[in-house]
Amino acid sequence: MTTYVYDFEHGDKDQKDLLGGKGANLAEMTKLGLPVPPGFTITTEACRAYLEQGQAPAELGVQVTKELRLLEQKMGRRLGNADDPLLVSVRSGAKFSMPGMMETVLNIGLNDDSVEGLGRIGGDERFAWDSYRRLIQMFGATVMHIESSRFADALDAKKDEHGAKTDPELSVDALRELVDEYKQIVRDETGRDFPQWPREQLDMAIIAVFKSWNTERARLYRRRERIPHDLGTAVNVCTMVFGNMGDTSGTGVAFTRDPSTGHSGHYGDYLINAQGEDVVAGIRNTMSLADMGTHHPEPFKQLEQNLHLLETHYRDLCDVEFTVERGKLWMLQTRVGKRTANAAFRIAGQLVDEQLITMNEALERVTGEQLVQLMFPQLDPDGDRTLLTRGMAASPGAAVGTIVFDSAAAVAKAEAGEKVLLVRRETNPDDLSGMIASVGILTARGGKTSHAAVVARGMGRTCVCGAEELQIDANAKTMVVGDRTFGEGDWLSIDGATGEVFEGELEVVPSPVMRYLEEGIERGVEGLDDETTELVKAVDRLLTHADKVRRLDVRTNADTADDSRRARQLGAQGIGLCRTEHMFLGDRRVLIERMILATSDEDKQSALDALLPLQRQDFVEMLEAMDGLPMTVRLLDPPLHEFLPDLTELSVKVAVAEAKGEPDARDVELLTAVRKQHESNPMLGLRGVRLGLTVKGLFALQVRALAEAAAIRKQAGGDPRPEVMVPLVGSINELDLIRDEAERIIAEVAEQQGVELQMPIGTMIELPRAALTAERIAESADFFSFGTNDLTQTTWGFSRDDVEAAFFTNYMDKGVFTVSPFETIDRTGVGRLVQLGAEGGRAGNPGIHLGVCGEHGGDPASIHFFDSVGLDYVSCSPFRVPVARLEAGRATVGDSDATA
Ligand code: PEP
Ligand code: MG
Repeated sequence: MTTYVYDFEHGDKDQKDLLGGKGANLAEMTKLGLPVPPGFTITTEACRAYLEQGQAPAELGVQVTKELRLLEQKMGRRLGNADDPLLVSVRSGAKFSMPGMMETVLNIGLNDDSVEGLGRIGGDERFAWDSYRRLIQMFGATVMHIESSRFADALDAKKDEHGAKTDPELSVDALRELVDEYKQIVRDETGRDFPQWPREQLDMAIIAVFKSWNTERARLYRRRERIPHDLGTAVNVCTMVFGNMGDTSGTGVAFTRDPSTGHSGHYGDYLINAQGEDVVAGIRNTMSLADMGTHHPEPFKQLEQNLHLLETHYRDLCDVEFTVERGKLWMLQTRVGKRTANAAFRIAGQLVDEQLITMNEALERVTGEQLVQLMFPQLDPDGDRTLLTRGMAASPGAAVGTIVFDSAAAVAKAEAGEKVLLVRRETNPDDLSGMIASVGILTARGGKTSHAAVVARGMGRTCVCGAEELQIDANAKTMVVGDRTFGEGDWLSIDGATGEVFEGELEVVPSPVMRYLEEGIERGVEGLDDETTELVKAVDRLLTHADKVRRLDVRTNADTADDSRRARQLGAQGIGLCRTEHMFLGDRRVLIERMILATSDEDKQSALDALLPLQRQDFVEMLEAMDGLPMTVRLLDPPLHEFLPDLTELSVKVAVAEAKGEPDARDVELLTAVRKQHESNPMLGLRGVRLGLTVKGLFALQVRALAEAAAIRKQAGGDPRPEVMVPLVGSINELDLIRDEAERIIAEVAEQQGVELQMPIGTMIELPRAALTAERIAESADFFSFGTNDLTQTTWGFSRDDVEAAFFTNYMDKGVFTVSPFETIDRTGVGRLVQLGAEGGRAGNPGIHLGVCGEHGGDPASIHFFDSVGLDYVSCSPFRVPVARLEAGRATVGDSDATA
């Protein structure tokens, strides 16, 4: 029989899957002997069963009864007993914290009889009646789905009637009347009485918590935080303790060290004579923990001991919620505490110094995404700031600019030299030009995978999205938040790492971590204050350790000498992908045009000959920047029409000219070529190796340019390490044809220049067929580089440019996936092909070198996967290199699934 209910004495912190975070930690605290109010946890498995079958598993009722009886025995009281009632709280608690998203019901067990008993034993009738009215209010709203304003209005009316300004001023009699009115509301709204039978209250509350897993707001939260929808929540049933039983009672929250700086010492807030929600709601001013020590010294001393014990036991910063009931301390909750990126690195360093954790463990305590946050310029933390609202931290960085409400204004103002911030309800592909022109993007709708967020991250633009308090009217050009209205031209500052939106023009300060990454630790800490020095040193220490332990090499995707140098400074160990198409744009486009238009072999060759020295010079510069390190150059990949004018635009131009009787012969010729190159599905058309085998001389030109560049570098005393990479190969025959020609050219250049040239030749694996026939292909390849962008497109049959904006948000809403497969590798599908490709590659050629150069090469979760299938390197954009170094280290010391 499945066990669906565990009391707090059975279970531990490692059972979060089954008991949820809160339940697992309550069990752990109980095991440690800390004063946890007794109770039990109903498993996530029970919740999943309920959600699947629409009813609780048959055994659940019996198991709850058994645990409840044990609890009653332990406490010497019965649930809802008229004379001396046991009261319980019923709280949700999922594996991952989802603050405020699901239900909680307190004071279960109170009814018309037990309220009197509670009043007698507590010696405080008012407290008892206030607890009862709170139960009906909370239960009515969350379990019976009555509009909460119904209760709030009745409460306000009661206060008016009795001339009371605040809740505590209501007398016992007023509260008794209010309870009657509340019960009437329940009757009116639901057609039934407020349940008087305590067990029915309990059962209804448990089901309500199960159901709250699937409320709209909970689903939305999970989508944003990328929490899977199928986990379910646990339900914790816990003996009630009261912090509002007079002046010897109180409630608070505490941290074992400062969560924003990491400084050791105990931090927190305390309220005398209050319940937990009063602290969080911020209605009353709290006192510090130190002040708690003067008012309630005994429980304070115990709390300090418990905090110390918890931090030593968890070997990490913990936060706790606690209550003091008439002088006795109760621990209500603990967990490893959330922290800022800055604090994460510093705390990891501090805990190593205190010898609580090892360097490997420290590496597991920080993430690549936290490092990214520290690499961006930041809003000056010491400046005057007025927080307007908060949204999702969608793409890090600080952006300060004046508001624009549409792309046209963004482009126009940016061209005039203004710094603008694009403010939209949500963005769509038409906003692209505005997003490019803006320093940052702010939207009122959409989560971390909305169009705005995905595109902003892709181009490294700061973005805050889903700031729902903003009312944006693009026609009226207004942004309303609370009672404030902002218009075009008003200054705003946004922090894409925290999701904060500030009024006005805040100062932006460069990132000290970035300076360290670029200039090394000695220069990196010059002139910094102690706090920042500690941070930079912690980052250095963890990155250095990651470099020491990691198995994966980290290369970069770069196609200019500048990017290459920058990436090298950031720790790149070579170039994993140089996309040569970027070298054929700008002024050189005409040369490609000439090549395409050429009618004879001579014309074509002369166009190619003109390109050769230019391409060679590019390679010389890059090989110099990457001297001594490998540099993988990919032969031309995109379809040729990308170098030609747009079909529609050119057709219009030609038609207009013809109508005027002034046809331009070259345009007409060009139009014929554009029509000829036109493809319905260019992504699956004449591109990559197919181009190399179709357009005579094109790949030959590139191989020759690279070989000659290597020769020049050798003659100059350098150590060039070029590699030739063939894109979009699906069959070994394609690769063989290119390889034969390339080898011939390399040998020719080596002889002509009198140098020895070692140039490995390999292929991208970016088609399913290539992965499936990898063993064969490997016979002709010195290396494989998995092109996971195209491999994702071709495996899913998604055209990235079309699908992301069109329906990915919908797919994520519907739970088809929690994260875009273009961002994090789809392990089970695309990942499987990578694994097959890697195994096949090694079987066909034991010495083969394996890497990845799709965007996934810089994505933390994907890096862990690539490590687990034994690739040799990942390659990513220069800015992601430090992230990849850190995550590759984390992959080595942690388990392959752990990314957070
Ligand atoms: C890829 O497909 O993963 C790749 C790196 O190539 P591109 O993105 O240039 O198509
Ligand atoms: Mg590709």
